[in-house]
Formats: sequence, structure tokens, C-alpha cells
Amino acid sequence: MLRNLMEDIVSDALPSVLRKYPEVCTCTKCIIDIKAIALNNLKPQYTATENGEVYIKALNELDLQFKSDVTKELSHAIEIVSKSPRH
Ligand SMILES: [Zn+2]
Repeated sequence: MLRNLMEDIVSDALPSVLRKYPEVCTCTKCIIDIKAIALNNLKPQYTATENGEVYIKALNELDLQFKSDVTKELSHAIEIVSKSPRH
């Protein structure tokens, strides 16, 4: 099975980024919009195996630049959705 690990990474990182934006709507539709916008701006991390998944996750946890890119894109996406929510 082919999976984009960036989807998991974005889902994991989103709650802590959302804490900085208490005014933003967190209904299912807005959350999906935020994830979609962020994922379109981040490089996908595809994996085909469980081992690959563990490896990429461990690698990414060590990479501060990578984490700050994810946080930056999520903040950007939250700002876009909070300005024009589609719900
Ligand atoms: Zn909403």
C-alpha cells in the first residue's frame, strides 16, 4: 500500500499549531481545508512499507528545519481558511 506520510505528519502537528489560533473555526470542513492547503505546499513523503514508515518518521523527528516548514505551512493554511471559511 502506498501512503503519503506527510498526511500523518500534518495531522500530528496541527493541534499544536491550532493552539496559536484560538479564533479559527475547527469544524471538520475547515480542518480538512487547512490540511489540504498545507499538504499542497509540502513535499509528499511516500512510503510503501512499514519499515519505510518508521525510518522516515525517525528521520523527520530529528530535522528541525523540516518541522519548522510543516509549522509554517500549517500557519499559512490556517490564515487562509480563517479569512474565507467554506463551511
Ligand atoms: Zn468551519
